[in-house]
Amino acid sequence: VEVRLSIPAVDDWHVHVRDGAMLRAVAPFTARWCRTAMVMPNLRPPIDSWQSARAYREEIISVTQSVNPDFSPRIAVYLSPALELEDLRAGFAAGDIAAVKFYPAGATTNSDQGMGSLQSYLPLLEEMASIGVRLLVHCESTDPEVDIFDREARFLDDELLAVRQELPDLDITVEHLSTAAGLDFVRSHPRTHGTVTPHHLRSDRNDLLASGMQPDLFCKPVLNSARDRRALLDAVCEGEPRVSFGTDSAPHSMAAKRAETIAAGVFNAPFALEVVAELLHQEGALDALGGFVARNGWAAYGMDPPPFDLELVRHDRAERPRTVDVDEHTSVVVYGVEPARHWTVSRIPQ
Ligand SMILES: [Zn+2]
Repeated sequence: VEVRLSIPAVDDWHVHVRDGAMLRAVAPFTARWCRTAMVMPNLRPPIDSWQSARAYREEIISVTQSVNPDFSPRIAVYLSPALELEDLRAGFAAGDIAAVKFYPAGATTNSDQGMGSLQSYLPLLEEMASIGVRLLVHCESTDPEVDIFDREARFLDDELLAVRQELPDLDITVEHLSTAAGLDFVRSHPRTHGTVTPHHLRSDRNDLLASGMQPDLFCKPVLNSARDRRALLDAVCEGEPRVSFGTDSAPHSMAAKRAETIAAGVFNAPFALEVVAELLHQEGALDALGGFVARNGWAAYGMDPPPFDLELVRHDRAERPRTVDVDEHTSVVVYGVEPARHWTVSRIPQ
């Protein structure tokens, strides 16, 4: 039986599109179905000023315009001692800066510019609350004593909870929820939102480790237990309004994913929507798709409906590419090829 549904254009609330040749190869995949995407600032050097945010935004638009002229990326700037309040205020007012992203130092790719403690930024965070700038948080303890599977929960307890309580007017997004503990945190505090990735909904640490180590599934925060994955998927299927689609698509070259020390990141931009559609189809919850990938984010950010809709059709298995070429020497492995074989997405103009 053919399944056919239409949903609003998607918003991706967490994506890495990199720069240079990688940007040109990967950003068009995000722009195809999205009205907007929150682009992360962990480049070298990091995006940490109005000027660098504006230049990066313009560069992204220049490589996505031919795919979707309606695509309007949002840039999150890097929270570090280099970020200046007046510059942030002006860049936010101009629409070139959309949010501020905090990384614990060393937690993931190019995050060594961060400073250890979120609390050390309280004066700046207080100003952000007063001007309405959202704080996006990579919640992962970097304490080497803490087990890797407990790091999200520990960061929430040890660092984010105090900030949450100190600044009740600050809008906070807990990025890439990976545990039931993270979901509980989001649900139990006002003005607190969460993003969820396709790979944390579909895969768990058994997929990563149990049948031979799968480097393409290695990401931060690490895929956690089957129980955690189930809690996240149940929340999405039930239409939990406090979570929205954030792919955390994070491309690395195949060489970096096959190296002695494997880079953290899953490249899912080509099939992120198809992965979620197939999961919800399997759960009998396709009616929750439009809320998760579109409307929940509109509610959090106070947005109007998008200028176009999407049509999704489920069909027999079709061929799908397993890699994307960046240049003649570099390719990136794509996540979610199997579920994507059942789905075709197209754009419906309004
Ligand atoms: Zn990320």
